[in-house]
Amino acid sequence: MKRILLASSLLLAACSQAEIDANAAPQDAAEAPAKPNITSQDLGGGIYVLLGPGGNIGVSTGEDGVYVIDDKFARFGQEIIDVIGTLSDQPITYVLNTHHHGDHTGANAEMKAVGATIMAHENVRKRMGITYMNEAFGRQQDARDASLWPTLTYSENMTLWFNGDEVRAIHVPSGHTDGDTIVHFVGANIMHLGDNFFYNMLPFVDVDSGGSIQGMIAAQQIAYDGADAETVIIPGHGAATTTKAELGESIKRLQAIHDRVKARKDAGESLAAITAADPLADMTDLESFITKDAIIMATWRSLGGDI
Ligand SMILES: [Zn+2]
Repeated sequence: MKRILLASSLLLAACSQAEIDANAAPQDAAEAPAKPNITSQDLGGGIYVLLGPGGNIGVSTGEDGVYVIDDKFARFGQEIIDVIGTLSDQPITYVLNTHHHGDHTGANAEMKAVGATIMAHENVRKRMGITYMNEAFGRQQDARDASLWPTLTYSENMTLWFNGDEVRAIHVPSGHTDGDTIVHFVGANIMHLGDNFFYNMLPFVDVDSGGSIQGMIAAQQIAYDGADAETVIIPGHGAATTTKAELGESIKRLQAIHDRVKARKDAGESLAAITAADPLADMTDLESFITKDAIIMATWRSLGGDI
C-alpha cells in the first residue's frame, strides 16, 4: 500500500513540477522522475517534518490520526496529502496554522476537503479576513478566501492530547505576527516554532501584522526555557531541525539587533542615518529575503518609530 502511494505521489510530483516549469524538456517520467517538491524527514516517534517551498510542516502520525502543523501553498496541497499518505494510513484530523501567512496556510482548503479541522489562534482567522497595507513591502495584502480560514480558534493556549502525546499550542503575542503559536510535543520533545525562528537567516518581523522584535525575542525565550539539550526544534524556514543551542545564539543575535538600533534611535539618529551606518555589518552573511535594511526598519518600527 505504501509503495503504491509513494509511486503515485512521485507521479503527481512529476506532473506538478511540469506545470511549474513549463519550459522543462519532455522526459520519460519512468526513467527520470522529476524531483519531488515535498520531501519528508523522520524525527522518530511517528513525527516528521515535510520540506519544500514554503514554511516547514510538522506531522504527527499515530493511532488517533494525523496532526499537521502548517501546510505551505495551495499548489502543493495534493502533494503534501500524498506524502502524508506514505507516512500514515490514518486520515488528516487536524491542521494547526502557526500564523496567517500564505506560505503556512495556503493548502488549508485542500486539507479541509480531506476532512481536517483547521485550528489557529483567533488572530490568524481575523487577519486572513481583512485587507491591509503591508508597509514593509509597500504592497496591499488582500483578504483571503473564507475557504482558507481556520474554524477552531483559541485566544490563549490549547493542549491537544493526541497520538499518546501532550501537544501544547502556546500563543506568543506580538512576535513574528500577533497570532503566533509555538507547538510543543512534550513527550516526543519536539517543538515547532513557526516563523518566530528562521534558522541562520535574518528574521522577518511582520510589524504590519502586529509583530515586534521584542515579542520575537520573548517568543524565542519561551521556547528556549521549555527546551533541553535534547529538544528537536523545527524552525519555520532555513533548516529541517535545529537545537536549543542554536536558538540561544538566535536570541543573542536578535537582542544585539534590537540594542544597536535602539541605542542609535535613542541618540536621535534617523532611520536613514541608522541604515547608512550599517550597524549590522557583521550579519551580512545572514541576509536572505530579509536584508539588514529590512530588519533595521522592522526594529525601528518595533521601537515606535514612524516610516
Ligand atoms: Zn510568516
